[in-house]
Amino acid sequence: MLLCDFHIHTTYSDGSIELQKVVDIYGQAGFDVIAITDHVVNNDSSIGKLAHRFKYTVKEENFQEYMDAIEFESTRAWDKYGMLVISGIEISKNYINPDLSAHILLLDLKGFISASWDYERIFREAREQDALIVACHPQGLSDMSKDTYHLWNNREKYAKYIDAWEIANRDDVFNVVSLKKYPYIANSDFHKARHLYSWKTLLNCSKEVGAIKQCIRHNKGVAITLFRN
Ligand code: ZN
Ligand code: ZN
Repeated sequence: MLLCDFHIHTTYSDGSIELQKVVDIYGQAGFDVIAITDHVVNNDSSIGKLAHRFKYTVKEENFQEYMDAIEFESTRAWDKYGMLVISGIEISKNYINPDLSAHILLLDLKGFISASWDYERIFREAREQDALIVACHPQGLSDMSKDTYHLWNNREKYAKYIDAWEIANRDDVFNVVSLKKYPYIANSDFHKARHLYSWKTLLNCSKEVGAIKQCIRHNKGVAITLFRN
């Protein structure tokens, strides 16, 4: 099975390690597939604006540069490690009230999508681009400052747009996702080197982006594993 991590941050947002180094860490650890998913933060709330001030977000202005850098690293990773690198972002709608907040991974994305758009518009545009849509950490985390409840609390409304839910994020497992029989994956939410050792996804499919999206959407041949040192 393919060892995968679909939720990774770099210095393009609030990660502490540069993109090239991150790719080398995962390549040397023997991963088959990773997705780079830096934050794209909303600009319509006080805490969202702070992320913009401290440059903890990819913006429309540097989105193409970000995508080009991932493309370059993708070629290098394939040649050097036989590792597939998928481009993505983490739409981050941050509000003081966690009931309004949500984070959404968009994988194999082509064009910029703003986190200040409403949820329906974000989902429809992502669908249009055939991006894989993943609801991140839908329940409370051990790091409570990152709580994002909006998608789970409104799952009847949004489930039709969501290809998979994060059943595990770094050290936390959300049993409630599995109980509802929604499609699932598990990711590290990597920001620093020690986050390599965390929950990961195993996929039984070929190492190709179309097959990976299909495998996750159908949620057959998907397992999770705790990757340890
Ligand atoms: Zn997040
Ligand atoms: Zn994240």
